[in-house]
Amino acid sequence: MSTMRAVFITEQGGIDALQYRTDLPIPQPSPDAVLIKNRFIGVNYIDTYHRSGLYPVSLPFTLGKEGSGDVVEVGSNVKDFSVGDRVVYLGGGGSYAEYTTVPESGVEKLTDDSITYELGASIGIQALTAWTMVRDGYAVKKGDTVLVHAAAGGVGLLLCQMAHHLGATVIGTVSTDEKAQLARANGADHTIVYSRENTVERVNEITNGLGCHAVLDGVGKDTFQDSLAVTRRLGTLISFGNASGAVPPISISCLAPKNIKLMRPQLFAYLAEREESQKWWGEVFDLLKRKVIHLHVHKVYDLKDAKQAHIDIESRKTTGKLLIKL
Ligand code: NDP
Repeated sequence: MSTMRAVFITEQGGIDALQYRTDLPIPQPSPDAVLIKNRFIGVNYIDTYHRSGLYPVSLPFTLGKEGSGDVVEVGSNVKDFSVGDRVVYLGGGGSYAEYTTVPESGVEKLTDDSITYELGASIGIQALTAWTMVRDGYAVKKGDTVLVHAAAGGVGLLLCQMAHHLGATVIGTVSTDEKAQLARANGADHTIVYSRENTVERVNEITNGLGCHAVLDGVGKDTFQDSLAVTRRLGTLISFGNASGAVPPISISCLAPKNIKLMRPQLFAYLAEREESQKWWGEVFDLLKRKVIHLHVHKVYDLKDAKQAHIDIESRKTTGKLLIKL
């Protein structure tokens, strides 16, 4: 068979920019890449930015930045992978497809049978993002108070679990009572329903006016100013996403009154070297095996229903991870 199913765009825009085709050519791996037959594909908020135009892409563009499956072909320079390997991967030529080419550097073997294809595709971007932030962005320690925005989301639930495991008091913000309940079940000690409660007032109540050692903000435009207000003196604000839109330009002098450290991380910059990437993957696999983290899968979609996955995640109706199964 030489054709495959895939979801791609030829121009950026709304939901209807997503095109599903069943007759696209199966890509060929370059010398440094492997060809993977996908089993599960992870849906991430970043996919909506690639579709909408918030993040630029070269067109045509196949959506998707993570998946799991089997290596079915290896490029001539590939040393560490063979046909038949069970793998997970980040990056590559678009995962919303039956087959994806991925540079060897973006692929990790699934050597432990307890990590299924479904788990593998679920933990890549979201767990690595969460873990790099709580270990490197701000090294969370016992006794800290950490605020997690969108605490019932994909990254959010993992941040709650991880920060709780590291000994922090976790405050999670969410838009509904159901999401608050889920965040609490995943390690949040306090929840703020920010659709009806004032985040700054509530954090001040909880922290006796001191604020949080670290604020983890993937919501962006709508929450940035509150995040700044609830970061304590000498604290760290990590702004890692734009679910409500991009944070407008700020004057760095806003950090001065409390000597706040501000970080805007991007996961892929943590994974540039093979050794770094293996270290972070190894730690996340270990967290899974020790059951420090567990996954909450919201829904598994068919590839032809990728539009619905984008509609759902953008409408704030989802919790945890969205997957596509092939
Ligand atoms: P989520 O599952 O967290 O979905 C986004 C959540 O954001 C929603 O469920 C919603 O939760 C909240 N939200 C608040 N305002 C809005 C709005 N106006 N529109 C839509 N959602 C809103 O997605 P992910 O876990 O995939 O990603 C979370 C964030 O992390 C994103 O901003 C993403 O870009 C970022 N990210 C950054 C990475 C990096 O390397 N820097 C890597 C991976 C993710 P609620 O209803 O409770 O408000």
